[in-house]
Amino acid sequence: MTTFTETDERKALRSAVGELGRKYGRDYILSAAKEGRKTTELWQEAGKLGYLGVAVPEEYGGGGGDIGDLAAVCEELAAAGSPLLLMVVSPAIVGTIIAQYGTDEQKKRWLPGIADGSTTIAFSITESDAGSNSHQIITTGYREADGGWRLKGGKTFISGVDEVENVLVVARTEDAKTGNLKPALFIVPTDAEGFTYQQIDMGIVSPEKQFTLFFDDVRLPADALVGSEDAGIEQLFAGLNPERIMGAAFACGTARLALEKATEYAKERQVWKAPIGSHQAIAHPLAQSYIEIEMARLMTQKAAALYVAGDHMAAGEAANMAKYAAGEAVCNAVDRAIQTHGGNGLAEEYGLVQMLAGSRLSRIAPVSREMVLNFIAQFSLGLPKSY
Ligand SMILES: Cc1cc2nc3c(=O)[nH]c(=O)nc-3n(C[C@H](O)[C@H](O)[C@H](O)COP(=O)(O)OP(=O)(O)OC[C@H]3O[C@@H](n4cnc5c(N)ncnc54)[C@H](O)[C@@H]3O)c2cc1C
Repeated sequence: MTTFTETDERKALRSAVGELGRKYGRDYILSAAKEGRKTTELWQEAGKLGYLGVAVPEEYGGGGGDIGDLAAVCEELAAAGSPLLLMVVSPAIVGTIIAQYGTDEQKKRWLPGIADGSTTIAFSITESDAGSNSHQIITTGYREADGGWRLKGGKTFISGVDEVENVLVVARTEDAKTGNLKPALFIVPTDAEGFTYQQIDMGIVSPEKQFTLFFDDVRLPADALVGSEDAGIEQLFAGLNPERIMGAAFACGTARLALEKATEYAKERQVWKAPIGSHQAIAHPLAQSYIEIEMARLMTQKAAALYVAGDHMAAGEAANMAKYAAGEAVCNAVDRAIQTHGGNGLAEEYGLVQMLAGSRLSRIAPVSREMVLNFIAQFSLGLPKSY
């Protein structure tokens, strides 16, 4: 039987995570961002409580849940004002890929730390010349005579590199610059010789920063390769669909926070005879946001359920649609929350103007709105590929 109600276990998880998120809260995140501090205490506590590892298999110290549980954690932290961007990469992409494609040795080495938050691994696919066209990435792993690898190339916009000891790098093993990507995934220590990185000055108010990475003949051992160099695109998408689901959950949580702030303000603020929320020009956009957020959450949960059921084609479509819906929902919610607040919407004190750039991110990454529309046009509607 299809059910639209979450299990009691999932509801309890949401409520416990919300409590942790509120204990830290928006002021903690904003002051960390302003003062250049990291959210290490929150990350570690979320790890200790089992929230980061909720989807890691039990035999490796995790909760044995699934991507729907992890997305619930991500959403509730964001809704409580304490978002953790690196949840989208470390436990969701990297944890899933290692759990599905890693060797026994790699699983034992990496998963327990990913589960308890003591190990955080960044993820890098984006390159400046390739952009959304990941088939064009040129970072290359060359097989060495001793069985190890030599990595050459670079990445851009990679989140959290200053907070991690390792980055999962999507490379290729052949020199061809054209044709379809056959990705090879390498775990690269941030202190490896030949690996340097530079922070990009972004206009986003967030403790997590973005970086350009340079791999100048970085030597790697044979076991730096995760999965098979011949496994093809499937092993990458094992991580990218969870990334989209998490990106959607992150956006839904942020949208809920913006809507909550707007609603509270609309009930209190009075400049004529009644609170401003009594004017439909204020109430209707907020009601629209409530509907948009609920639709995005529903699609996010559907994507997670299809992913867990192993229906990868349907999960890919749903994950893209969830990401699209959540990106639109959060942009609208933040914009409407600012409008509801009038001048206060742009005052630092109210914490909304700081959400603007971050909410726009949800339309751009991890996959842009336009690339989702391309996917749906081509694969769901059967229209000709336009590019
Ligand atoms: C804050 C932040 C954090 C990030 N973190 C990470 C990370 O941790 N790891 C990582 O690997 N990457 C990360 N990224 C990169 C992110 O995934 C990319 O920015 C995103 O995929 C878009 O690529 P691009 O910026 O090169 O845009 P481009 O590909 O240059 O696209 C520019 C514009 O053109 C549109 N466009 C491109 N091609 C088409 C087409 N065929 N049809 C229609 N429109 C098209 C796009 O939709 C977009 O609007 C991050 C980015 C940001 C901003």
